[in-house]
Amino acid sequence: MGTGNEKQKILIVDDSEMNRSILADMLGDEYEIIEAVDGVEAVARLNLDSTDISLVLLDIVMPNMDGFEVLAVMNRRNWIQDIPVIMISAENTSSYIEHAYELGVTDFISRPFDGQIVHRRVINTIMLYAKQKRLIELVSDQIYEKERSNNLMVSILSHIVEFRNGESGLHVLHINMMTEILLQTVMRKTDKYNLKRSDIPIISMASALHDIGKISIPGEILNKPGRLTKEEFDIMKTHTLIGAEMLDQLSYYKDEALVKIAYQICRWHHERYDGRGYPDGLAGEEIPIAAQIVALADVYDALTSVRVYKPAFSHEKAIEMITNGECGTFNPLLLECLLESADSIREQIAVNSIKQESDRNIRNITEDLLHYEDLSASERTLRLLEHERTKYQFFASLSQEIQFEYTREPAMLTLSDVGAKKLNAAEITMNPLDDEKIIGVSDEKVLEEVRKLVNGSSMESPVVQYDGELLIDGEWRWSRIICRSMWNHEDRANMTGCIGKIVDMHEEHAKIKDLQRIASHDGLTGLLNQSNAKRHVIERLHENDDKEYIMAIFDIDYFKNANDRCGHMFGDKVLQHMAGKLTGSTRDYDITARVGGDEFMIFMEDMPGIDVIIDRIFHALTGKYEGFDISISMGVSRSKNVGRKYENMFGCADKALYRAKQSGRAQYCFYDDSMKEILSAISSIDGEE
Ligand code: GH3
Ligand code: MG
Repeated sequence: MGTGNEKQKILIVDDSEMNRSILADMLGDEYEIIEAVDGVEAVARLNLDSTDISLVLLDIVMPNMDGFEVLAVMNRRNWIQDIPVIMISAENTSSYIEHAYELGVTDFISRPFDGQIVHRRVINTIMLYAKQKRLIELVSDQIYEKERSNNLMVSILSHIVEFRNGESGLHVLHINMMTEILLQTVMRKTDKYNLKRSDIPIISMASALHDIGKISIPGEILNKPGRLTKEEFDIMKTHTLIGAEMLDQLSYYKDEALVKIAYQICRWHHERYDGRGYPDGLAGEEIPIAAQIVALADVYDALTSVRVYKPAFSHEKAIEMITNGECGTFNPLLLECLLESADSIREQIAVNSIKQESDRNIRNITEDLLHYEDLSASERTLRLLEHERTKYQFFASLSQEIQFEYTREPAMLTLSDVGAKKLNAAEITMNPLDDEKIIGVSDEKVLEEVRKLVNGSSMESPVVQYDGELLIDGEWRWSRIICRSMWNHEDRANMTGCIGKIVDMHEEHAKIKDLQRIASHDGLTGLLNQSNAKRHVIERLHENDDKEYIMAIFDIDYFKNANDRCGHMFGDKVLQHMAGKLTGSTRDYDITARVGGDEFMIFMEDMPGIDVIIDRIFHALTGKYEGFDISISMGVSRSKNVGRKYENMFGCADKALYRAKQSGRAQYCFYDDSMKEILSAISSIDGEE
């Protein structure tokens, strides 16, 4: 809402700075000028807040997104109804101009333009729109006011009647609900009665007035405990005509739809389809449909309520009595509707509360919005939606979560303000998949996978999730990206985008990693265990088929002695010591493992000078630990000699190790063909000395 001293805002969209500045100079005194260098920026600005812009001056030919595309977006988002657009362009062929008008521009000014003319047209357009807007506001306020006072009036009147009749407050509410349900069913089944959706609230509201004529029936008749005499009943019957007359005399409101319908209902809700009702003895379709429906609802409610002269019948019994014709004849079509909606009538009446009413109203409004092609939502509906949006944004801002919304047309990513801060990106990004800041948040794979998952989702199962590393607050953190795809309700095949949030999973992920590490590593030394070493080696060989590798297997000489002389615990310490030495003398990228009791494995790339490296490692692993002399025997196989199969490399290294042990221990040995015949595996070697 603009206050008196605030300037109205004009959005100038033009890729030429020169053009923008000319226009800004011309209008800057009276208006606040906002500039956009192309369509993308313009849409982003309108998306941020479209309500504060009084006019858009739009160029046609621009990079990224041209003027026509901007108009298309403004149409899709229903901004064009509220924001006037003047196109300014050097392109003034008639097809261009025509197209611009088709897309809803209010004016077209061709370049080069006369400053005075632009000035005049801008002011005219803004004033015209402002006037219109005020009118709409005025009218919708009036409608809102009127609807409210109608409601109020109806409920006061109907309560007076109920009070006098000694009925519970529920009677009117029940009739109201049942009328609504029956109307909906009738509308679904036939268009014979020319009912419009907007008739439903009016007729159900009017139904509340069906018995107002009872106000003038003497209390002793109205509340007589026993059956009425013929005379008394004749008096009672007059409530229909009296009610109708009361409404007819409302000279001021007489022409209101509500009053007209209420008149029909009051007068004819005791007529019967076969003409045997009162007061006028109308038959068949002579009885207005509103009165027919209320009559049916009234009978149902009377049957299911306690009266001085009868108990309350069950829902089922009441339906049975009505369809059997025990309560007079009804329109067969209405009886069908009654049977069809019997379940929902029972449910609605069972859970009868005021809250339900307001929930239902909101549901109806949303349904209307979804079902009607021309979303000419009333100002009031928009206010409701705006309310929802504010509520949502408020909760989103409290949650500290990274939330996002992505729309396809236009391709636009909107982040919650917390999200924008944490990801170090803008709150609105056009074409996010081409945007450096957005791409920089993760590696390509993450975005690509999420995109694939969302595209693969469906209206039936719209939620997908993906775990990956994201740059959050400048730190790579494992995160879960949860997305819900959004769909166009008219066109099921059309995904309009998605909404979602990013949940931090870093701690959980670390825990899982830890568990995985424990499962794949040897508990004593922390090195990989045999089976996982094998997996890693096979992977490494597979991934780098252009590289050669060596595998070394070594075994501590006379390790039993350590155990025997100083105890098992000491032996453990020696093993841990060896693991430390092993890690210290190899590089992170090499694969090291404990493959058996006192046997270890090294797997690394074969390269020139590998002999020297093996020699260095061998010596690093030889030495003393707390008085115990440590030496090892080691066998080495090379993929370029024995092939790239894990089993071969392992078997040959094992044979070379056997040879080293046989040759007096404390030495290493490369596998060669002379060892082919060695059969024993390392585990069968016995200490010989
Ligand atoms: P060699 O020179 O022939 O290798 O003689 P060795 O005594 O080292 O004999 P071998 O390698 O066959 O024996 C390994 C011994 O290591 C057998 C077993 O008691 C011991 N051992 C196996 N696992 C562990 C362990 O986890 N902790 C300790 N303390 N000892 C182990
Ligand atoms: Mg040993």
